[in-house]
Amino acid sequence: MGLGFNTFRRNPREGVEQEQWDDLILLLQDFRLQTVPDRMGSVLDTSDTFSVSSARRYLDGIMLFTGGPVTRWNNWIPIKINILIWRIRLSNIPTRERLSHRGILVDSILCPICSSRVETIDHIFAGCSDLIVLWSRIAVWWGVNLPSQITMDSLINWAVSFPWRIGQLKAFDAVILISFWCIWNFRNATIFGAAIPGNL
Ligand SMILES: [Zn+2]
Repeated sequence: MGLGFNTFRRNPREGVEQEQWDDLILLLQDFRLQTVPDRMGSVLDTSDTFSVSSARRYLDGIMLFTGGPVTRWNNWIPIKINILIWRIRLSNIPTRERLSHRGILVDSILCPICSSRVETIDHIFAGCSDLIVLWSRIAVWWGVNLPSQITMDSLINWAVSFPWRIGQLKAFDAVILISFWCIWNFRNATIFGAAIPGNL
């Protein structure tokens, strides 16, 4: 390649700069310039030509989540609520604990409602002492028992634990999922708006 330190205004420093330089040389050492006109090619498709479908396949391969719990969709409630539940089940909502874990500076990692425990997904929806009464009231309202263990998963699947007819099941399921939506909005209003804990 003929590349050398004299190509640059200064030599690479040691450490990561030197490592990156060595890696670059390794990548380029077998590369040979050809005396042919320049052309655009695509490595995403065996035909060497770009197509939207090949780009889509590539992006799906690196971005789409596979595995995890099976998605349940309740068509009696707005799509935005189903999407929130889907994100909760993938542990993909910005709780304080999650933001902090990703290196984002937050004022506090404590639950904004009770201020006594770390705000994890399980805590905000199933463990917070100030919010748990909501699930007890729903149980009394519908004349059912609470799940034996109150967790985020057991609450999301609460409706399917009963041998109900489909309409009854979907209605109760809607109540549960909307409650998740209300809790998340209440939590956000507490942090960013004027909601006062205890008003739920
Ligand atoms: Zn709490």
